[in-house]
Amino acid sequence: MKKRAVFLDRDGNINKDVGYPDSYKKIKIYPYSYEAVRKINRAGFLAVVITNQSGVGRGLIKEKKLNEIHEKMKTAFKKKNACLDHIYYCPHYINSPIPKYRIDCRCRKPYPGMALKAAEQLDIDLSRSYMIGDKVEDVLLGININATPILVLTGFGKESRTQLQRMKIEPAFVAKNLLDAVNWILKSEPMD
Ligand SMILES: [Mg+2]
Ligand SMILES: [Zn+2]
Repeated sequence: MKKRAVFLDRDGNINKDVGYPDSYKKIKIYPYSYEAVRKINRAGFLAVVITNQSGVGRGLIKEKKLNEIHEKMKTAFKKKNACLDHIYYCPHYINSPIPKYRIDCRCRKPYPGMALKAAEQLDIDLSRSYMIGDKVEDVLLGININATPILVLTGFGKESRTQLQRMKIEPAFVAKNLLDAVNWILKSEPMD
């Protein structure tokens, strides 16, 4: 049977949104994120991070450095018995000064590229999966891949809620934060 995933936005969801962090020192993981990911793991979902990182295309951080940050994040979660199964990122930026990143690419949220790649590589049933994030593009991605979209009010969440209301788009749930979102998922799942 295909697996199910909880797709996770990174900045403003797992860790504080501080703009374009260029080192792991600047990544402040919210303290409840470990428990949230642990719960995702235990419920049998894959925890898959999907993050737009145009800082690479903007020339603000090297891709190698970004990968280093992600390895350190995975390690930090492992130490707390939680597993980020996979991290997908989009390094592209349409006005990038670096030619190889100068693409209006189909992986940048709200486009579904990263989720489609995850679905193929990790054998995920998207329609039985969830997407959690703090921005309009996160909710739109959830809708675009036919997953259940959840907005968190951390990061840009409050601004996003207003924007979504204006656009008449309703996430399945508006959560206080990532842990609240995961608790809602577990509560809405049928028990066996
Ligand atoms: Mg975000
Ligand atoms: Zn991309």
